[in-house]
Amino acid sequence: MPVTADLLLANATVLTMDPARPRARSVAIAGGRVLALGADPSGMDGVDAREVADVGGATVLPGFHDAHNHMAWFGLSLSEADLRPEAAPTLRDLYEAVTAQAVATGPDGWVVGSGYDQNKLEAHPDRDGLDRAAPGRRVWLRHTSGHMCVVSTAVLADLGLADRPADVPGGKVVTDAAGRPTGLLQEKAQELVGSLVHPYPLSVVADAIDQAGLRYLSEGITSVTEAGIGGGWIGHTPVELAAYQSARDTGRLRVRVELMIASDALHDLSAHPGDGIELGLDLGIRTGFGDDWLRIGAMKIFTDGSLVGRTAAMHEDYAGTPGDRGYLQADAGELTATIIAAHRSGWQVAAHAIGDRAIDLVLDAYAAAQQRYPRADARHRIEHFAVSRPDQVGRAAALGVVPVPQGRFATELGDGMLAALGDRRRDWLYRQRSLLEAGLTLPGSSDRPVVAGAPLLGVHDMVNRRTATGAPFNAAEAVPAYEALRAYTSGSAYASHAEDSRGILAPGRLADLVVLSEDPTAVSPDSIAGISVLATFVDGECRYDSSGSSALT
Ligand SMILES: [Zn+2]
Repeated sequence: MPVTADLLLANATVLTMDPARPRARSVAIAGGRVLALGADPSGMDGVDAREVADVGGATVLPGFHDAHNHMAWFGLSLSEADLRPEAAPTLRDLYEAVTAQAVATGPDGWVVGSGYDQNKLEAHPDRDGLDRAAPGRRVWLRHTSGHMCVVSTAVLADLGLADRPADVPGGKVVTDAAGRPTGLLQEKAQELVGSLVHPYPLSVVADAIDQAGLRYLSEGITSVTEAGIGGGWIGHTPVELAAYQSARDTGRLRVRVELMIASDALHDLSAHPGDGIELGLDLGIRTGFGDDWLRIGAMKIFTDGSLVGRTAAMHEDYAGTPGDRGYLQADAGELTATIIAAHRSGWQVAAHAIGDRAIDLVLDAYAAAQQRYPRADARHRIEHFAVSRPDQVGRAAALGVVPVPQGRFATELGDGMLAALGDRRRDWLYRQRSLLEAGLTLPGSSDRPVVAGAPLLGVHDMVNRRTATGAPFNAAEAVPAYEALRAYTSGSAYASHAEDSRGILAPGRLADLVVLSEDPTAVSPDSIAGISVLATFVDGECRYDSSGSSALT
């Protein structure tokens, strides 16, 4: 008796990402899972299909998984003033965009913009410029890194900071030489603005999730890890998970989502001392809770800031700014204690660490946690792992840590990063190849909306490693296209403890897949970014079709 598939994708170049069977020519799908793979482009023996889609030789891969992105933030940014360098290349353009956004926003509404990078402008925008661009208005512009923002005088006045400086632990209210705040708020000082605008209504966050998901499908993304909800300057509302549930209930959760929980949202749980649960969410909910569509991921903890913003914690000074080594976002002992408590309580930990000093702190904390409370396969992560000495790579490998770097940073932020580091540390920047050589798993991620999030752009940069001005971006760390694709599929699945259900195409795995116009491993490296996404399937169903028709299903 032949088995019956819901759908057969025929005449395909299938890159399964499964080392046991790397290539196939057809894929049969049943019940939202991969039923079988065939070597024959026209089908396979013993499998009948209710529907056959001839993809005309196109390339089929497992759906892309962005291992570090900010989904609600990205969705919200779609309706804000676009201040990315390509949209507002000069300060003058930026202020004009602020004026236009002010006109488009009701007179009492906040004028919000995002994506500016002072490295591409002459300087950070400031309160005086914002006051001229939108007189009397509350203006809030977020830096592309998310680690700082600039506000107008009206916002400073709401905070009582119009004429006086203030000390904020783990952050900075930046002032001019005369001690007057410039409007620039770094790191934890951003929470001051948060106190004025948060919590966002759930409906607004759910809409943002919907809008973001539609874009993701058009780029071949079928899973994302959201890198921090529910607290700190990264969260939008303490009940943020409810926005994802609501999106799902109303059919607007377009891709599978794993939610990292901001460390501020975790608290003491008063469990039995013998349980070893020191820290968590109410009811003891922790990493792994949920299902294939919506699941709790790691605890996200920020240990330092941004490299292009020069707030990341380094052992040595930033190039050109003597005495400036960035800073930690909290007391080192406090950060370490939180990481150890979360580990002990059963959480996967995802620590944001950019500078080599912050990376040392996190590696020390993971080592101490495992020594005191050994736990198999914890897969603690280091988000970004941006500036790492060779010994830190070895140590991460020995501890089974998953570093999570971002490929697209090369083009969009690379010049600013090279300038911040100077010559001596350039070889330490955003490693990939040396991570693989050390036996580490490499996930694929964007940190969207910090930079563009389309996975093929990420893959392009992971292979080409050039900055916007064409400078090599630690080119020795480039990887072949196949490894970059592996990162965005099975590598990201591993970082989420999800490799048993997704990340490769094999019988029984989720039928999440993307159809590409060309095979990224077979084109010249500089044309990878030009490959088109033809269709995206989640759960065996076509959720995006570039032709606008249902020709593929
Ligand atoms: Zn991030």
